[in-house]
Amino acid sequence: MSSHASPTIAVIGGGFSGSVFALKFTRLHPEARVVVVERDRRVGRGLAYGACAPDHLLNVPVSRMELGLSPSFADWLLRHRARLGDALAESGGDLAAAFVPRELFGAYLEERVQEAVSPDRSRGLSTVRGEAVRPLDFPARGVLLADGREIVADIVVLATGNLPPRAPQARDSWLYDTTLFVPDPWADDAFDGLAKDAPVVLLGTGLTMVDVALKLAGSGHTGPMQAISRRGYLPLAHQAGGNWPAFHDPKVHASPLALLRLLRREAARAKAQDIPWQRVMDTMRPAVAGVWHGWTLAERAQFLRHLRPRWDVHRHRMAPRIAERLGALMKSGQLTARGGRVQAYRRKGDLAEVVLRDRGTGTEHVVPAARIVNCTGPRSDMDRLAFPMLADLRRRGLIAPDRLGLGIETKDCAALGSAGHVSPWLYALGPLTRPTWWEVVAVPEINAQIDRLVRDLSTPAGETPSLAEAFSDLGAGI
Ligand SMILES: Cc1cc2nc3c(=O)[nH]c(=O)nc-3n(C[C@H](O)[C@H](O)[C@H](O)COP(=O)(O)OP(=O)(O)OC[C@H]3O[C@@H](n4cnc5c(N)ncnc54)[C@H](O)[C@@H]3O)c2cc1C
Repeated sequence: MSSHASPTIAVIGGGFSGSVFALKFTRLHPEARVVVVERDRRVGRGLAYGACAPDHLLNVPVSRMELGLSPSFADWLLRHRARLGDALAESGGDLAAAFVPRELFGAYLEERVQEAVSPDRSRGLSTVRGEAVRPLDFPARGVLLADGREIVADIVVLATGNLPPRAPQARDSWLYDTTLFVPDPWADDAFDGLAKDAPVVLLGTGLTMVDVALKLAGSGHTGPMQAISRRGYLPLAHQAGGNWPAFHDPKVHASPLALLRLLRREAARAKAQDIPWQRVMDTMRPAVAGVWHGWTLAERAQFLRHLRPRWDVHRHRMAPRIAERLGALMKSGQLTARGGRVQAYRRKGDLAEVVLRDRGTGTEHVVPAARIVNCTGPRSDMDRLAFPMLADLRRRGLIAPDRLGLGIETKDCAALGSAGHVSPWLYALGPLTRPTWWEVVAVPEINAQIDRLVRDLSTPAGETPSLAEAFSDLGAGI
């Protein structure tokens, strides 16, 4: 252990990142005390694997969700075979290649945490239900909870995950004060009182929209659903088959546009050989964090401005069964997706009217809506963020938002303060650390990051390989 023989670590957030870190750290250091602070009832699930309906599926196959825990996810799933019917039928009986319900992964993680909780709260893993609102005042170290409890700790790990979505900018902000607007599509009461045949507008056309549309249809909703985003791109689907060799060395600098050209060329070559373009993206994936790390601020901004929407739909794909269900909803006409902008929200009786300007034709459409659902996905910028813990850390100069609005600045996992110093006690995992690595939002990358932090806190500085190398060792996959 670098600085503490048996430290106390406070982990803020008991979603995937915080829970797996706590599991792995206490497995290696049973004498340490790791306290996971989670404001929700269940630890281990977080947003992705907690707020999901039974027909929400993982968007990668079982083999990509393995974490190095015991039992493995695949072995655990074998005990739940009864719930794998459709997944195994689709994958031809191959469990590693199956797309299984997200809630199963949540149940797997929650069970691992429950199993690991130590009966002795002075060592091992323990969980605390509460919201961390600020760090303790110097020279004390640790966190204060909203209910006034203090957790004194040597190290604090921020694993607060994705930030709630930002309300889309609109002149007619009256809408946000009404029950017609659903700011958080995952909230339990999001669709309370919605008539089955009522029209719904979904703001966003990405994976969140897909989740919400399928959830509504699955609960018997028959009313029309209009999805809208600036470009109207829908996520693309996974397709199995074939292999594609590595074609880019992340140590060789390539600008965003050069990389786009390279990806297009490789996809065309793959197509000529009847190999799905998806394999080209999969081969690229381990290099992505390294490429991002090597880009200048201007190159990163260029990527975000011009290429991100297309990158997202190719990279974050739908399980084949989800794509089929979505296709059926669109074919039936119940769901339509449009590229364009919201011009205004108007009140009309019990409904709202959404005035949309079509991206292609410039024509205006007026769409009635009994609910307007914010499906724009998690926000990442800290501008005017009412999130006490992060706002307080920022005010104290202990964390620094990045200039592109993606999260906070880190060096590997250590937080950088506003003066640029590397914190010796404050660390971050998962989506918050996106400014440094971009693709630290999915399980394989976050898992590699967790392994790295566990090693960093266990090994004298300088002995660990760079995190970019750890990401590039992930192997090709989706
Ligand atoms: C809908 C959805 C589906 C996804 N599907 C996949 C998939 O199939 N495969 C894949 O690889 N990746 C998937 N992802 C990516 C996902 O982001 C990561 O896999 C992972 O869940 C991120 O975990 P996290 O713990 O960092 O964040 P979260 O899961 O958001 O967890 C953060 C936790 O911190 C808690 N918290 C926050 N602030 C405080 C505070 N101040 N005090 C106490 N508690 C706090 C929250 O309550 C929450 O439980 C999906 C993401 C989403 C949103």
